[in-house]
Amino acid sequence: MTPARAEIVVDLAAIRHNVRVLRATTGVEVIVVVKADGYGHGMAEVAGAARAAGATWLAVATLDEALRLRAAGDTGRLLCWLTVPGEPYADALRAGIDVTAYSVAELDEIAAASAHAGAGLTARVQLKVDTGLSRGGAPREAWGELFARARAGEEAGLWQVTGLWSHFACSDEPAHPANDQQEQAFRDALALADGAGLHPELRHLANSAAAILRPSARFDAVRCGIASYGLDPAPGHTPDLGLVPAMTVRARIALVKALVPGDSVSYGHTWTAPTPTTVGLVPAGYGEGVPRHASGVASVGVGGAQRPIRGRVCMDQFLVDLGPGDDSTPQAGDEVLLFGPGHHGEPTAQDWAEACDTISYEIVTRIGGRMTRTHVDTDPATRGEPATRGKPR
Ligand SMILES: *Cc1c(COP(=O)(O)O)cnc(C)c1O
Repeated sequence: MTPARAEIVVDLAAIRHNVRVLRATTGVEVIVVVKADGYGHGMAEVAGAARAAGATWLAVATLDEALRLRAAGDTGRLLCWLTVPGEPYADALRAGIDVTAYSVAELDEIAAASAHAGAGLTARVQLKVDTGLSRGGAPREAWGELFARARAGEEAGLWQVTGLWSHFACSDEPAHPANDQQEQAFRDALALADGAGLHPELRHLANSAAAILRPSARFDAVRCGIASYGLDPAPGHTPDLGLVPAMTVRARIALVKALVPGDSVSYGHTWTAPTPTTVGLVPAGYGEGVPRHASGVASVGVGGAQRPIRGRVCMDQFLVDLGPGDDSTPQAGDEVLLFGPGHHGEPTAQDWAEACDTISYEIVTRIGGRMTRTHVDTDPATRGEPATRGKPR
């Protein structure tokens, strides 16, 4: 098999393990969030792994993602929450997807779709309330009208209100006062909905950080994205649950060369060798989603040690400092681990996030471009076909 120039390898056994850990830790339904191509891990493959680990519910952001997941064969409970006027609600209805309404206007659109979708089908609608993020969801002053309309539509047989939910702004800062305020606001919304005659089966508020750190916010279900991928939702606060990062990004060194003191490296000559050293050319750059912000600040794993990136990350390539040349200096063709679970001394996506002043979510979601992505299964008990070796993304 030809070694890949630069590739993403996703371990589906890690996804299954993480979902099981989250189910055991929270004791409630875990809605595994697979939006944005499964945070860069592959939506359909992650969905399959999550279902295998017992996830009754999955969630994506857009209706388009939900329909693609159905087209890929997923048949379980599936929630989406981000639409614009005119989206194909009738398709969602026929595909048994739970859509989210933020407003009466959205309910009216769903009602029209419901009328056209044919007899015997009832739309599944979840209501989202804004409890303080000021993003999606009905603002507090609109809750009464939204709930009244939702209940009226339910009585008219237009839909079934299957869920009521909201989303935290600051759950990665567990001591932030907004968390208590939002949870209280959510309880207010639940009481108001109950008074309006709505009794949704699924009440949910927590994302990964709150699911782990805030037991009072678990309600009927938690929505776990980042933790399902094995990454830390609240660095510095999360207890060690043994989550395993599922994504490894690796490349082969294209060229190794010696530098003498005074040689400068890459565009802008932002780094100059102070002493004799060797550099390795890594054939991945911001065209593969390697952040340009990693220039001169992130490290990669080579031969079990972490080695610094020197100079600017380019579109297609960057340079890693391999140290003074000797017999043990890596050669062209040797492997470089950009990030992974850390089992071989390589940095993690969290290390990259800290170096680049961002969050691990952005690191894993943006990586890709020209890299191939392969799904593997390290669990000997379920190791089957070598899933999708080297599939172009
Ligand atoms: C992305 C998202 C999640 C998942 O958040 P994590 O922090 O990755 O667990 C949950 N709910 C909503 C509304 C989201 O947009």
